[in-house]
Amino acid sequence: MIYLYCSDRFSGYDFGPHHPLRPIRLTLTYGLMEDYGLLDGDDVRVVEPPLASEEDLLSVHTPEYLEAVRSERPNPLFGLGIGDNPVFSGIYDASRLVAGGSIDAAKRIVEENCSAFNFAGGLHHAMPARASGFCVFNDPALAIRVLRRRFDRILYVDIDAHHGDGVQEIFYQDPNVLTISIHESGNYLFPGTGFIDELGEGPGLGYSVNVPMPPNSGDMAYELAFEEIVPPLFEMFRPEAVVAQLGADAHYADPLTDLKMTLSGYERLVSRIKELADLHAEGRILALGGGGYNLKVVPLAWAVALQIMKGQPVLEYLPPFWAELFRNEIGGAPLCLPDAGLEMDDETRKKIAEDLDRTLGGLKALLSEIHDT
Ligand SMILES: [Zn+2]
Repeated sequence: MIYLYCSDRFSGYDFGPHHPLRPIRLTLTYGLMEDYGLLDGDDVRVVEPPLASEEDLLSVHTPEYLEAVRSERPNPLFGLGIGDNPVFSGIYDASRLVAGGSIDAAKRIVEENCSAFNFAGGLHHAMPARASGFCVFNDPALAIRVLRRRFDRILYVDIDAHHGDGVQEIFYQDPNVLTISIHESGNYLFPGTGFIDELGEGPGLGYSVNVPMPPNSGDMAYELAFEEIVPPLFEMFRPEAVVAQLGADAHYADPLTDLKMTLSGYERLVSRIKELADLHAEGRILALGGGGYNLKVVPLAWAVALQIMKGQPVLEYLPPFWAELFRNEIGGAPLCLPDAGLEMDDETRKKIAEDLDRTLGGLKALLSEIHDT
């Protein structure tokens, strides 16, 4: 069974008309899933998320921060009202709803052998006492706290183009939660962290893993990084449940990033995460959304993710309404996208390969020192 979290009320999580995190990305995603017929079988149950309780939120966030969010007043101390995170009317409940989906999903995974997908979630930048990068409450971390009630080892894997800094920070000293983030290097992209020497602290040393990717990496480099680092960590850690942040902003058409992935590359990464979760964690996987700011790419990416979770082959056609919508924009068939803008000269390709080689070599050396493998 896959529990899919969806609500009209998700559109209340809205930083305003000029903010890149547009609520319509979620409406479109659900619409595409429906039009593909992905919700028709009895293997997917659509669930209206509950609001996260204060008690749940306090497992990650401070009481002072909850109060600050509830007050709906700008407060730079808590990251509210500055830059990326304007305060809006209803911010507390809208944020509780997103968090509530991930928390409820985790509770179901604790109670029954199932998987779940909350594509409104994945707000991985939120800190215990600070909003950051469009994220108010850190739903991945909140869900992990719930999963920890039953499971000893949780593996968090994050393929969003941005470093999953909030989740890393929250579990930085915790050897029971292995966080892995593959992202565009902090030298070029927000939040400016996620380097290979961020490995965790104290008992958590070796349980934070980061793969900073050079800009323009593309599918091959991204998949190489994933294969070199992620499967061996699954082997070593033997997770009992997996939380996957499936941000869709590494795509070449994303306006905020430069990783130059295609949807095919994204599909292969999500398939591998699913395979690894099936192999090591009896299929207990909580999938979350995350970033993704191209309104056509995001629904496709997450519809692809749901198809993979269902274990069905990814459809190569678009439903009629969507085919019309996407015509001339990103090609007719979603997975046969042209490599638009992906050509690069040999010099650049060589530089990227060398850069990544250094990163992977350095990271593997550090990890093998810690884990003695
Ligand atoms: Zn992102």
